[in-house]
Amino acid sequence: MRIANLAGRLVLVTEVGAVDVERASNQRFSADPDAVYARWEEFIGWAREAGHENATSFDDADLRAPAPSPAQVFGIGLNYRDHAAEAGLDLPDSPTVFTKFPSCLTGPSGQIALTSPTVDWEVELVAVIGRPARRVPAERGWDHVAGVTIGQDLSDRTLQLTGPAPQFSLGKSAPGFGPTGPWLVTPDEFADPDNLELSCAVNGESVQKSRTGELIFSVPELVARLSAILPLLPGDLIFTGTPAGVGMTRTPQRFLAAGDELVSTVEGIGTMRHRFVEPS
Ligand code: ZN
Repeated sequence: MRIANLAGRLVLVTEVGAVDVERASNQRFSADPDAVYARWEEFIGWAREAGHENATSFDDADLRAPAPSPAQVFGIGLNYRDHAAEAGLDLPDSPTVFTKFPSCLTGPSGQIALTSPTVDWEVELVAVIGRPARRVPAERGWDHVAGVTIGQDLSDRTLQLTGPAPQFSLGKSAPGFGPTGPWLVTPDEFADPDNLELSCAVNGESVQKSRTGELIFSVPELVARLSAILPLLPGDLIFTGTPAGVGMTRTPQRFLAAGDELVSTVEGIGTMRHRFVEPS
């Protein structure tokens, strides 16, 4: 099952086009893409039976963030061994967590304004919470995930690393710095949802490529570790961390410049495509 936010309306994405959920369900479910997660199990039961006869073709440019206004957005740092090594840091015993404030979220295409000459890419798998989670064991972690999508944890390295204690959350929360999409894919769509290839390219040159099987803390383990501390709420996002290949740790360092195109891909989900422009 794939669901998307098409110009602000919740749709099912099928092989024959998009099905508008509010119309197809005779208003049983709202068109609001954020509202569906609080009724996830009821919704998914309906969606599996829904007909596709009213599917219509759509323009990818109209896709928006699949969960655009979450209560909580978790970012996980240092969650791939090779990225911890390139940063010269020890492997964590527990997840390193920051937030991306929800105002940074945007959709899977379009332009993003740079904030400085040191904006960096971080392709990531993003998990979206469906069933609320509190003290959930890792063995049941996936049961609380509605689905996964692609994310970019865009980071202004100057702001992120300024001051005596790093400003991770602010440095990663400028407008447009949290693109997600193009849609949410339910875990049952994957042969192994814990081992998906993810990659990104700048102007056609591959800069990151790994597999989520390399995560130190997997999606279900993150659900367990986070929900041991606080409740995870329907629609919450977990940016699960980025593999090696960010610009900051390259020699010489490389950052995004106006005119650059960033293409982000996760196996079995799809692709996001963004163009960077000068600070507005
Ligand atoms: Zn990240």
